Amino acid sequence: MTEPRPPLAGVVGWPISHSRSPRLHGHWLARHGLDGHYIPLGLPAQDFEAGVRHLPRLGFRGINVTIPYKETVLAIATRVSDRAALIGSANMVTFREDGGILADNTDGVGFIASLASAASDWRASQGPALVIGAGGAARAVVSALLAERVPEVRVANRTRQRAEMLQEQFGARIVVVDWNRASDAMDGAKTIVNATSLGMMNQGELNVTFAAAPYDALATDLVYTPINTPFLQKARAQGLRTVDGLGMLLHQAVPCFESWFGTRPKVDDAARAAISG
Ligand code: NAP
Repeated sequence: MTEPRPPLAGVVGWPISHSRSPRLHGHWLARHGLDGHYIPLGLPAQDFEAGVRHLPRLGFRGINVTIPYKETVLAIATRVSDRAALIGSANMVTFREDGGILADNTDGVGFIASLASAASDWRASQGPALVIGAGGAARAVVSALLAERVPEVRVANRTRQRAEMLQEQFGARIVVVDWNRASDAMDGAKTIVNATSLGMMNQGELNVTFAAAPYDALATDLVYTPINTPFLQKARAQGLRTVDGLGMLLHQAVPCFESWFGTRPKVDDAARAAISG
């Protein structure tokens, strides 16, 4: 006789203690009265592949994947979604009943949903975007902005070659900007994004000024530790609207929770409180 097992999901990374995802999914499970669990799973590199492959047998329906496995997980997937393939990394894996392992990336849709819910009149298509940074998160943001019909994405990155790689992959709407001209590139930009890790606690600060930005530009920071980054403070001091990085973290989790636990959760003040601090 088989005993019904509560659905399990989790987040795999190394290290993993910093992850806020267990608090968020735990909050949603309690809120919806669901008999399931979301578990942080720290797997060192030598255990990653075997560990992930074993999870379905333990009752896991899926996992989030975080640093340092967002790229390497693609190699063990039996199917990679178009957007994950385009971005080159996955943050979400779903274990199918037929044994398939589906890798997807919800960071980009989380980014768009965060801006759209914070500023209801914002549309990527309203004008050029400036994305500062060209790492994994920047790739997700650029890809999502292009899908939302942004006319142009200016990319400034310390290592220019990585910005040029984005241009090669994503084509003519990408304009590479010199790292030290990022502030000037705000001229005419409707969406301004810090996708570097600068501004995180114990890291340096992103050295930009917002004087050239249009008054109706929207500035957002992917960094969420701290929530109120120096980048956002400077943008607000210039009179711009700002959206913090917690919104993207919350919204990227919505399709994951819905896929594994069968209920679409809400991003509201209680969910924000669950992962703040
Ligand atoms: P990543 O792939 O390691 O890329 C890091 C980026 O930051 C690169 O563009 C890198 O430039 C730049 N950078 C790092 N140190 C720098 C410095 N001292 N000076 C200038 N540029 C520097 O990391 P990622 O995954 O893209 O993550 C970037 C940030 O986004 C992190 O803070 C992460 O926590 C955040 N994030 C947030 C969410 C969310 O849901 N809010 C989701 C994903 C990521 P080079 O190419 O020159 O090294």
